[in-house]
Amino acid sequence: METLFTKIINKEIPADILFQDDEVTVFRDIAPQAPSHILIIPNKPIPTVNDVKPEDQMVLGKLFLTAAKMAAELGLADNGYRLLVNCNKHGGQDVFHLHMHLMGGEPLGPMRSK
Ligand code: AMP
Repeated sequence: METLFTKIINKEIPADILFQDDEVTVFRDIAPQAPSHILIIPNKPIPTVNDVKPEDQMVLGKLFLTAAKMAAELGLADNGYRLLVNCNKHGGQDVFHLHMHLMGGEPLGPMRSK
């Protein structure tokens, strides 16, 4: 169940953490796909969207509230940005601790459809 993101939350491995409270942690992606690319994660290690339970509603809502707060702080809110959550193999998920990508800082173009 434990992934490297749990180690980041627990400060067992280094990361550029921008925000942390009892429920969520925000840090810069190590391989940014945009000028600003951060990850917003629940501290609770939910592996994938498929594993979300009704009791996770509050923390999942908190991911969006945190995304909006971080976008404002990083100066991305007005021009806009992309939020992305990958699930399992076809979604391209590599780390099995649910996380929201926030990318922005330049026009990102259309999503690839195929
Ligand atoms: P996903 O493919 O949706 O599972 O995204 C995993 C993301 O985690 C990728 O964008 C990676 O670049 C990022 N990542 C992997 N290891 C680290 C790390 N140690 N610190 C920050 N980001 C990481």
